[in-house]
Amino acid sequence: MLGLMQDWQLLCHRVLDHAALNHGERPVISRSVEGPLHATTYAAVRARALRLAQRLERDGIKLGDRVATLAWNTWRHLEAWYGIMGIGAVYHTVNPRLFPEQISWIVNHAEDRVMMLDLTFVPLIEKLAEKLTPIERYVLLTDAAHMPATTLRNAVPYEEWIAEVDGDFSWTLFDENTAAGMCYTSGTTGNPKGVLYSHRSNVLHSMMSAQPDAMGVSSRDVVLPVVPMFHANCWGLALTTPMVGAALVMPGAKLDGASIYELLDRERITFTAAVPTVWLMLLQYLEQHDLKLPYLRKVVIGGSACPRAMIQKFQDAYDVEVCHAWGMTEMSPLGTLGSIKPDYAGLSGEARLDVQVKQGHAPFGVDMKIADDAGRELPRDGKTFGRLKVRGLAVARAYFKEGDRILDDEGFFDTGDVATLDRHGYMQITDRSKDVIKSGGEWISSIDLENLAVGHPKVAEAAVIGVRHPKWGERPLLIVVLKEGQSAGKAELLAFLDGKVAKWWMPDDVAFVTEIPHTATGKIRKTALRDRFKDYELPSAAA
Ligand code: ADP
Repeated sequence: MLGLMQDWQLLCHRVLDHAALNHGERPVISRSVEGPLHATTYAAVRARALRLAQRLERDGIKLGDRVATLAWNTWRHLEAWYGIMGIGAVYHTVNPRLFPEQISWIVNHAEDRVMMLDLTFVPLIEKLAEKLTPIERYVLLTDAAHMPATTLRNAVPYEEWIAEVDGDFSWTLFDENTAAGMCYTSGTTGNPKGVLYSHRSNVLHSMMSAQPDAMGVSSRDVVLPVVPMFHANCWGLALTTPMVGAALVMPGAKLDGASIYELLDRERITFTAAVPTVWLMLLQYLEQHDLKLPYLRKVVIGGSACPRAMIQKFQDAYDVEVCHAWGMTEMSPLGTLGSIKPDYAGLSGEARLDVQVKQGHAPFGVDMKIADDAGRELPRDGKTFGRLKVRGLAVARAYFKEGDRILDDEGFFDTGDVATLDRHGYMQITDRSKDVIKSGGEWISSIDLENLAVGHPKVAEAAVIGVRHPKWGERPLLIVVLKEGQSAGKAELLAFLDGKVAKWWMPDDVAFVTEIPHTATGKIRKTALRDRFKDYELPSAAA
């Protein structure tokens, strides 16, 4: 027997309809790419998104067509997302930090028909345009007054382009499983892979993310998503914020400490989210200028591991609650968030930080388990680590144009991360599965060793990789960049680690380098390091 409830399809544009109707006057403030701050409202964003949808339709864009955006977080980018989705087309966020060859690869792979881009990226795209064959039209997210001379095909300024229609338009209705958005993973191994969100997964993900133990935002919040819309679906915030009717502040192109502080203070931001690098810049700026954060209530930090010292600084010096989060593009992206459950509520000081440095626990809608290489589930004891596998309401089941091979028999997706789970459900990442060092059949966490090594006062950055060893298969090599003007020998660094890890985890050698390579999203490029050190002779191998 079926239930007798209404069939109300979960469509993303319904989120904006709700915001416009119930929170219509809530402000949407942006730092424009042209410079000044710009103010609008959810009601106005909806009206302009409808125009954009109507204009796209006039250009022949239809259900299922992909429209690329290469843009910072601004009101125009927000209008673009909703306008594109509102006719059943698919927003494809292109990450401008990718290598140019990767950008042209994914635009071709996605077969984007239109590209909407900020002024910032015009020179980059002009250089690539010849290779971007599927693009029929470039829409520059600006007005005629700021429109540069450009060689881009059929280029138009956004404002004048959407003014060509009257805005008398309605959203298209379609099945909630229709594709809504697309984001490619950065492809540290092989080509980037396209994750294709549906209207249903985006809406459910936002409902999940709004919960008190997840992002926990409400209509009383003023939300600053510093995390770019082009990074992992903006962590859902472009939907969650209008869904709950919070005010939205968009940082535009300026993500440095001074610019972010200016917004936090001026707009009285209560909630914000970004990767650790952004917060390092902000904390430095606050310290240099002896500033406080009287309005900010909560900061969500993820994308890579949040350092313990950062959590401590935000909480102790600025009275801001830190929520450490983990996720990935394939998960829309939220996987776990680190709110404190009653089980740990009594903890304070270092013991509380021990919980907060973990990546957090799963909200309803995310199932997690850890398993060994043979797929056997491992205990949730907070110590045993294994491959982290997930399934859920907003987790990918396949990549765009790649067939259906990414889930195991029980429908779990292997995240590529290695983690522990404790009995209360808190997950802690110990490594990436391709980076974990397999020594004599046992696993050594490269991340644990790196975290310890950067605790040395002379070390600026550290990476640990497995190097071939005749007896053990692989042994850890510690690769170090020293702080400017510092000098240290191998023995000094190894002595620093001694006693802090099991004997068999100790690196067999230390290599000093001037620079460690990074990916477009700021993560250490272990593949490049492994290449560089592939013939490295460990002293222990010769013995
Ligand atoms: P990109 O490489 O483009 O940033 P993703 O955002 O999808 O792509 O990266 C997801 C990966 O980032 C995760 O699988 C994990 O390895 C890492 N990651 C994300 N959040 C954290 C975190 N809080 N701690 C440690 N690693 C994290």
